[in-house]
Amino acid sequence: MNRVSKKRAKELPILRKLVRKKLQETRFCERCATKSLLVRATCVHHWAGRRWNLLVYDTFRSSCWKCNQFAKEHPKEARAENWIAPVGVYAT
Ligand SMILES: [Zn+2]
Repeated sequence: MNRVSKKRAKELPILRKLVRKKLQETRFCERCATKSLLVRATCVHHWAGRRWNLLVYDTFRSSCWKCNQFAKEHPKEARAENWIAPVGVYAT
């Protein structure tokens, strides 16, 4: 079972709204864009992690599924190209 704290449970509907807003404003993957690729964004990547930045809109990055996975699977490489915030800024 996926347990969510009461605080987080309250945040989730707000997060969903912000994600929708972000994907409407930036429809294409921001990482692919740096490689001159136009790929439709399907999710929001949390550039600075989710812990206390969950609802910080400025840390949202429109992302395709692949680039979101890339951040999870290759954090070192992702950080090197600034797809993940620097150590000290990022918090999971
Ligand atoms: Zn992408």
